[in-house]
Amino acid sequence: MLKKKVCLKIDVDTHDGMRDGVPALLEDLEAFDARATFCLSFGPDNAGKAIFRLFKDPGFLKKMLSTGAPKMYGLRTVLSGTLLPARPIASAFPVICKEIVKNGHEAIVHAWDHRKWQDHLKHMKKSEVRQEFEKSFQAFMDVFSAKPRAVAAPGWQATKVSLAVQDELNLHYASDLREPFPCFLRIGQRRFSTLQIPTTGPCIEELLTVGIRNEDEISSHLLSALKKAKQPVLAVHAEVEGGVFRPFFRRFMKILSQEFAGFTTLEEIASQTLSAKADIPVLEFVEVRLPGRAGKVSSAKTGP
Ligand SMILES: [Zn+2]
Repeated sequence: MLKKKVCLKIDVDTHDGMRDGVPALLEDLEAFDARATFCLSFGPDNAGKAIFRLFKDPGFLKKMLSTGAPKMYGLRTVLSGTLLPARPIASAFPVICKEIVKNGHEAIVHAWDHRKWQDHLKHMKKSEVRQEFEKSFQAFMDVFSAKPRAVAAPGWQATKVSLAVQDELNLHYASDLREPFPCFLRIGQRRFSTLQIPTTGPCIEELLTVGIRNEDEISSHLLSALKKAKQPVLAVHAEVEGGVFRPFFRRFMKILSQEFAGFTTLEEIASQTLSAKADIPVLEFVEVRLPGRAGKVSSAKTGP
């Protein structure tokens, strides 16, 4: 069977992840001659606000403790936006942002306020959703002097409202879903016009949360999901694979380069998919629970 290419979709969710994780990953990607897609959060790093969810969401406490979040993210990040002021994420590092593109990678919009989107999207009005997009698009344009061509929803959180606003933005594609494969979405009779390129398989944090700690086991879980996927897209986090899991990720990159026919970007997948537009399936939007994640994430229904 012909080998597929694999896409690394790298989320940047925190100030420290941008400052330290991205340069580390740029180095490692270069070593493997790999191109990737970086999804940038521009606005305030409110990662610490997640702590307050402890009181409402017992699943979150479990996640926080079992992944060793304070160790993985550092205390400054864990307190960011709560006891300590929220620092800007990508907007604080225009030089690193430009480095991403200079090195041949793709940069797209992940969020303005990652935390706010992830925790409050469900209750946000259309005007508020629009505002989040406007702020992140302006920040992207300030850095790159060009309009972003794609977005990837924080925490894989999408709603009828966010999908409708995305359609107004005339994007090349969006990456809001967990599974199954590139598609258009519909909710009942309402069909959306933005191509979706989903993420496949778990991410490291989710595996840690369900108690998979052994690095060989982590590796085989990630790999088997990617190999099964029609269009493999791995979720990478600058804070994790560019931080304490960097040595693991370097080893894993080696495995990926042996198992796949190289690395691709979401943009390339989108262009390729759209070149046969009539073949793109239209799937019903659904929300699903995944092992190792608190709450539900966006996906699409493949069965009857
Ligand atoms: Zn994210």
